[in-house]
Amino acid sequence: MSISFPAKLTERLAAAESVCVLTGSGVSAESGVPTFRDAQTGLWAKFEPEALATMEAFQRNPSMIWDWYEWRRKLVRQAKPNAAHYALANMESLFPRFSLITQNVDGLHQAAGSQKMIEFHGNIMRTICADEGCVIEDYDASQSPPPCPRCAAYLRPDVVWFGEAIDQGSLDKAIALADECDVFFAIGTSAQVQPAAGLAEVAMQAGACVVEINPQRTVLSKRANFALHGAAGEVLPLLIETLTPALSRN
Ligand SMILES: [Zn+2]
Repeated sequence: MSISFPAKLTERLAAAESVCVLTGSGVSAESGVPTFRDAQTGLWAKFEPEALATMEAFQRNPSMIWDWYEWRRKLVRQAKPNAAHYALANMESLFPRFSLITQNVDGLHQAAGSQKMIEFHGNIMRTICADEGCVIEDYDASQSPPPCPRCAAYLRPDVVWFGEAIDQGSLDKAIALADECDVFFAIGTSAQVQPAAGLAEVAMQAGACVVEINPQRTVLSKRANFALHGAAGEVLPLLIETLTPALSRN
């Protein structure tokens, strides 16, 4: 595959002091991680997403909800980071300031080596106490759900359920990063889900160059400074390769 990138984009990136990236489910899909809905096969197919991902559902049927997340964890464990994840991990060292914000819960960015990131919707592989909110690493996995070893409340996955708010600290930090960056990337996200969608808007208002990478056109395509239509796993590595000579001269 060959893509030629507009000179204005590569110039802007080569001069960028601060780059902020938002990734969405498209990046995970390229690794074969099924979306929430795509994971709803077999006995899970009959449920509305809200029936599997709210605190009310968990309180009503904790065992079923725990099992649903065990099933999704199993699917995530089968997935490996793709070229887009590795390219983003590389980008951390290419710019003076680099930040990664993801809507994905699968931990594939960390698996690829990304260090500094904000997980907007949590991490499905992490477990917290439903009462205390603290991360619990050792628990009796034979129970569904296991009890918290500290307070005996149920444990739950550390993900943001419908009706739950994104952590305010993470949100504030993400907005500040979008506001101060020179180049903002929206990658594999439909840019429709708030508050993530608002980040591109913040960056645009602050005068950043906004770059979209997505196989499909989205609501952002027309407004972004550059819309690169292709798979992130193909576009990003080529973009880095094109940029590297310019960046190493800095
Ligand atoms: Zn507890």
